[in-house]
Amino acid sequence: MSQQSENPAGGEASAPGADGEGFGGGELVLLVDRKNRSYLRRLEPGGFFHSHSGLVAWDDLLGRPEGSEVRSIGGTRFQAFRPTLSDFVVKMKRGAQVIYPKDLGPMLLLADIAPGHRVLESGVGSGALSLALLRAGAEVFGYEIRGDFARRARKNVQEFLGTDALSRYHISERDCYDGIDVEDLDRVALDLPEPWRVVPHAAGRLRPGGLLIAYTPSVLQATQLRESLERGPWALAATVEVLQRSWHIAGEAVRPDHRMIAHTGFLTHARRLPT
Ligand code: SAH
Repeated sequence: MSQQSENPAGGEASAPGADGEGFGGGELVLLVDRKNRSYLRRLEPGGFFHSHSGLVAWDDLLGRPEGSEVRSIGGTRFQAFRPTLSDFVVKMKRGAQVIYPKDLGPMLLLADIAPGHRVLESGVGSGALSLALLRAGAEVFGYEIRGDFARRARKNVQEFLGTDALSRYHISERDCYDGIDVEDLDRVALDLPEPWRVVPHAAGRLRPGGLLIAYTPSVLQATQLRESLERGPWALAATVEVLQRSWHIAGEAVRPDHRMIAHTGFLTHARRLPT
């Protein structure tokens, strides 16, 4: 990828703009230059985006539709879009390492996340998985041992989904290995070092038919998790790895890109049986 990663400017989070409407003050904007470098910023009326080739006046964008072009004083052109969830996840401020869009998308379907689902998520980290779960309409109960990460995750959720989403996002600063307090869970989503230590707690809180999904960077973690699922009450356990290869398509030059991300993690999922 030739994208340059930049953190979004902080500032007050405002609700995401409505699709089809022109840009408004306080919104997140993704500015993309001709070389596909992108910058995530908040639109400040009366203010400027400081690009490598000089200032871009935010007022030039106010009220205009997505895809509009703006120019810096130095003549560089940028197209402006509202960031997608993927754009935001790769550029947002991080505490812990995030799960990337390549895995977030499949995780939503493997765990069959639906609006209204009660989901226990641990650890919360930077909130990338939280964002995906909340975007799909779930109510998320997050267990995170580090207070600074929990605060970062909450801020990221507020920045992208707006303050309203926080009413469905409940983070507790606690160790998930000690147990789960939340009852009537539909789903459990794990991204922590020893997910097998959560399996017995998850079995006690998930409804029959409920799903557990875990992301593990190492296959040794995946096998240890599978062994704990074997001890029941679980069915349909499976582990997958998602490979994504991008292509270079320019006229006659049509081939896979030279570089790809060869490994991120393994996704293991299983369903809770009645006891
Ligand atoms: N899925 C997250 C990243 C999680 S990183 C994202 O997409 O942004 C793993 C997180 O698990 C770290 O923040 C770490 O502090 C937390 N963690 C590790 N052990 C834990 C435990 N026993 N209970 C709760 N959180 C834990």
